[in-house]
Amino acid sequence: MPKQSPIPDAMDKPFWDACNEGRLVIQNCKACNLMQHPPQRDCNSCGSGANLEWKQVSGRGKIYTYGVVYDSPVALLQADQPYNVAIIQLAEDHEVNMLSHLPGVPLDEVPVGATVQVIFEPTQATGQKVPEWKVVS
Ligand SMILES: [Zn+2]
Repeated sequence: MPKQSPIPDAMDKPFWDACNEGRLVIQNCKACNLMQHPPQRDCNSCGSGANLEWKQVSGRGKIYTYGVVYDSPVALLQADQPYNVAIIQLAEDHEVNMLSHLPGVPLDEVPVGATVQVIFEPTQATGQKVPEWKVVS
């Protein structure tokens, strides 16, 4: 399904550039040894931006839970309603979550607990690639 095109800014550009290269990178604070997503200026834990780095991760995760969207406020997504929205827990850190429409999974038949692998899909407006997730088991 079509997706919104993010407009990268100075802070999250490394994340989006990596997506275009087929790599998933997550912000990590070297002082706290904690990952966070979505990208932010400062570490959620210590409040400093000085120790943030970009860490490449495996792109593996698990489906934590999901919902079905019947009435999206986003016009671009309304043509595909209803659709799945799953919460993905990253393999490296279950506290780090990303959302997915789980392409290929029938509506409301999301296999909670299944392993997923990141893929990258280009968006219509700019061609910027965005992360999506596919069930692998
Ligand atoms: Zn920190």
